[in-house]
Amino acid sequence: MKILVVEDHGELRALLIEQLERSGFAVDGVATGGQALTALHLNNYDAIVLDLGLPDIDGMQVLRRLASPSGQRLPCIVLTARDALDSRVAGLNAGADDYILKPFDMSELIARLRAVLRRAGNIVEETLALYNVTYDPACMQMEVCGRVEVLPRREAMLFEELMRAAPRIAVKDRLEQCLYGNHEPSSQNAIEALVSRLRRKLQQFGADVRIETVRGVGYRLSPQAGKSGRI
Ligand code: CA
Repeated sequence: MKILVVEDHGELRALLIEQLERSGFAVDGVATGGQALTALHLNNYDAIVLDLGLPDIDGMQVLRRLASPSGQRLPCIVLTARDALDSRVAGLNAGADDYILKPFDMSELIARLRAVLRRAGNIVEETLALYNVTYDPACMQMEVCGRVEVLPRREAMLFEELMRAAPRIAVKDRLEQCLYGNHEPSSQNAIEALVSRLRRKLQQFGADVRIETVRGVGYRLSPQAGKSGRI
């Protein structure tokens, strides 16, 4: 799940990025409305956290752009100052899914974000299951035959994408975009390394699925030889 954070206050932006990443999201952070529109044009996001008071174009204008194109709208949480009651109402009319008053509690923001993602159909708290493997994205926990492992953040993000894609292929370029924010260095080698670690774990735990490499395209969760059933 990739989130765009639009906040001109540098410290708050850094804090938002850090906390959202800690909760298992990939995050891009930008400081202006113009940068937000560019980022939205270049990347696919699952949701946006948007400050209304921006130095260039107003957050409201960014919001209206989100509302306009063909049907599918990005889930949005608006951040607004406690004294700007009118903008809250206007924000919701323009298509924000929720708003949160500054100063706010980070855990509340993350709970609200999960709620708007859930409402948008990007259900982030369901447990994903495939053969004898289950994965709970909310606590980054993989379980195989009763053996439980909390995955490190980046492995967790990759595994979630593979589980959601199955039985289809998770395309490498898309994985790179999902796993890394634009402030983080990424490489296909780094993804290879994560895949190796996940492969080892699945094997050690006796999983009925393995990560298959589809050359030049990406990765896919496939049944181990001799295993059959619904995938
Ligand atoms: Ca601001």
